[in-house]
This record gives sequence, C-alpha cells and structure tokens, in this order.
Amino acid sequence: MSSSDQTNRPVRVRFAPSPTGKLHVGGARTAIYNWAFARANHGTFILRIDDTDPTRSTDENTQIILRAMRWLGLDWDEGPEVGGDFGPYKQTDRMDLYKAAAQKLWDEGKAYPCFCTPEKLAADKKAAEERHDPFQGYQRTCRDLDPEEAKARIAAGEPYTLRIKVPLDRGDVVVPDAVHGNVTFNARELDDFIIFRSDGTPTYNFATVVDDAMMGITHVIRGDDHLSNTPRQIMVYEALGAPVPTFAHISMILGPDGKKLSKRHGATSVEEYRDQGYLSDAFVNYLALLGWALDGDTTIIPRDVLSREFSLDHVSKNPATFDFKKLDWIQAEYLKAMDDATFSQQFLVPALITAGLESGEAAGVYAARPAWYDLLSSILKPRVTLPADVVEKARFLYQGDDVEFDEKSVKKNLAKEGTRAYLEAAQTALAALPADGWTAAAIDGALEPLPDQLGTNKRKFFGAVRVAECGNQVSPPLGESLELLGQVTTLTRLQKALPLAQ
Ligand code: GLU
Repeated sequence: MSSSDQTNRPVRVRFAPSPTGKLHVGGARTAIYNWAFARANHGTFILRIDDTDPTRSTDENTQIILRAMRWLGLDWDEGPEVGGDFGPYKQTDRMDLYKAAAQKLWDEGKAYPCFCTPEKLAADKKAAEERHDPFQGYQRTCRDLDPEEAKARIAAGEPYTLRIKVPLDRGDVVVPDAVHGNVTFNARELDDFIIFRSDGTPTYNFATVVDDAMMGITHVIRGDDHLSNTPRQIMVYEALGAPVPTFAHISMILGPDGKKLSKRHGATSVEEYRDQGYLSDAFVNYLALLGWALDGDTTIIPRDVLSREFSLDHVSKNPATFDFKKLDWIQAEYLKAMDDATFSQQFLVPALITAGLESGEAAGVYAARPAWYDLLSSILKPRVTLPADVVEKARFLYQGDDVEFDEKSVKKNLAKEGTRAYLEAAQTALAALPADGWTAAAIDGALEPLPDQLGTNKRKFFGAVRVAECGNQVSPPLGESLELLGQVTTLTRLQKALPLAQ
C-alpha cells in the first residue's frame, strides 16, 4: 500500500465534519477510514470543524460530534481540544487565512472581482440555455474588467464576489482517486467559480482547499458526493501553487431498499446507536466493513487489526447497504468474546441500572456480588444483542416472591393436567438441597431424575417448573436461573404457583 501521496509526503489526513447536525453513520465511516488510514501508515489524523455555514452550524453540534468521535475511539492527533501546529482547527477561526489566500490570488491575477447581480447571472444562464450553448456556466463577464474600474466600483460600495480565473487552456482536469482511479473532467465545463461571496465569506471549495493545502493534507478521504467538487478544488490547489493530494471518494450508504440511508430505515446518528447500547468496538468494526474488506470473508476485525491493515485499495466504489442484522450479529460476537466479569461490568450492570432494576453506580453495584453477576452474565451473554435484551431476560430475577406470569406460557405449561405433582416433586427435591450446596449443578442434578419418576416427559416437567419460577417459557437455563434466584425464593415461587397448576 502506498503510504504517501504523489509527492511522497508523510501521510496527513483529515476528517472535516460540518456541525450542521449530529454525526451521521456515513460521516462516522468517513472518520473511521481517515483514522485507520492514518494509523496504518503511521501518519497524522486531523479533526477539523467545517463551520463556515453560519446559519446551520452550532457549537452544540460540534460538541455532539466530538463526543461521538470519542465514543467511537477515533483519537485525533491534531484538532479541537488537542491543538497542533496547523491550527486553528475550526474554519470560523481561520477567516483571516482565507482572506489572505484570496487576496494573494487576486494580487497575482488568479482571482478577480465580479459585480454581476444575481439577476444578471440568471439572465445570462437563461440566454445560454436558449442558444444551446454547451457552456452554461458563468460567462466570465467581469474577467477582463479594467482593474482601475473595478477598484472604483468597490470604492463606491458596489457589492462584488471574488472569482477564480480558471486558465482557458487548462485542458482536462484529472482527479487522482484511490478508489475510482483517475477521473477526468472537462475543464471547459468549469466556470470561474466564486471563492468569496459578497458577504465576505469564503465558499466551501475555497476554504477547504486553503485548509487542506496549509495543513499539508496528503489524502482527502470523503464521501463521493464531493467528487464533482474536486476538479474545482484542483483549480484552487493549482492557483495556490500547492501540491494536489490523492483523493479517495467513498460511496454512499444505502438503506435496505436501495435508497440513501435515512431516518425511514432506522437510526442514522452515532449517538442513537450508542444509546441503544451498541459497543463502540462492534459498531466501528461494522461501519469499517461498509465498503471496505480485509479479504473476502473476515468479518470480525478488531480495532488494532483495522488500524494496521486498512488500505484504500480495498475500498469499494459501489454503494454499501446498511445491514442492521449484520450489525447485530457483529455486536453479539463481540459480546460473546467478553469474559463474564467484563460483560458484567461493561454491559450487564449498566443495563440493569439504566432499567432501574439496580441502583447506584456500576462499580459499586458489581462489587456487592460479583459472582452473582458473573453467573448471570454467563447465561445471558450468548443470548443477547442489546441492553434491552439483558433487561428483558433478567427481569424475572428482580420480582421477589411474585414473578410476573406470561399468560400464554402459563396456559401452555402450567395450567395442564398433572402439573401440580411436578411442582410438588420439585419442591421436595429442591428443599432437600443443603443451603450451602445451592448451585446450578446441584439443582440440575436434583431435578433431572424427576420426569422419569413421575412418568412424564422432560419437556412437560421442566416447562411447568420453568414457568413457575421464571414466569415464562423462554428464560435462560433453569439450573443457573434458580441458583441466581436463591433457594428461598425458588421454593416460595413453587408454592405460589401451585394454585395455577392442576
Ligand atoms: N464539511 C464537508 C462535509 O461535511 C467536508 C467535505 C470534505 O471532506 O471536503 O461534507
């Protein structure tokens, strides 16, 4: 994998979100690719806040994005809160730099003021359409204005924009793209676009290039919705006399119906996934695979492998489809790979606290009875994806003497001829266990011979006992469940279920 751009500079990449909303999964994937590319190439990962759209950018969104980046574990080497030699890292704090860069281009005759009103521009466009002119862009009206005249009009207070002078003999503009290969654009279609608006703010295509050039960015990895901007940006690099980076335009993320991923399909912001209880590691693993592959079939790619092995030549140019089931599968794999104590502390106990089943702070709650939580973890871990599943499956343990019965389960397993005898037999066998020998193995051992002795089958017997104890027929393994309930509660629940049995 090439670890440098065409000019052999050390790798420097940036993720440049606009704080106009929360961090979207598409943005998160772009961030992950930039981060992983920097790490894999021993380069520098920069976070820059592109907040030049004052009407839609907010500090609150910036904070949300920084929090999401931290949750994703995408540590940046330069940027907000971290600093660096190429700051500031927020575009609104860089206005003087854009002004100076624009002034320089103007002084060098590579940019010029344009006084055309919006009405004039619209009329020119309409006329170009009507005469079927292949060139429908800005008609270069002010390109050759006498500089003295321009100066006088500015002095008189006439509003103007600043446009870049695209060389007329520029020929085709080739975008060097690590994902798409060389993409050629016809320079004749590039008009002299605006680099500074009449309100004194720089345009995206200008500010971004000034920043990328000044920050020494070697690879621009971003969504392919920006591919069409790139030939214009190359014009700015050339005017500034800065090396053109390598680009990597990554595909859109689509929903299962083939349309751009949106709210209609499910959660789209990183924090929604965090709040649902996805693990950061699993989420990053999943997003990394949306358009990139290590090889044909490896699905579990821990962060350290990603940050070693990521390469742009394994990025697909085809749109990626967000697969909620695959995300859940990866999440479940990460959970299964945790040891019981880790699962307890990082997943189980926080979930129980959030649901109000436990109260206090996680470390303290766990420390009060670690073995109990670890046993619960051992039976839940293979059966859950999200904290909500943990809560649903553990709830019966928190209902004291009066477990909540699921009516259907009762009907199917408890309210049946002969079940009273099952519960009574279980009561006798379990009451006989010594209090200090109340373990899943002992419980299983005590119950195991009963169906035969009662002349019934295992399914009927255990179905009845399970519903009596857990309230439903889909609870985790019985022996462990009863160990967790404790002997006293177990016996009380059997007693209380007798009236439901026949
Ligand atoms: N702020 C731009 C965006 O969020 C960045 C585009 C770029 O990476 O150049 O789309």
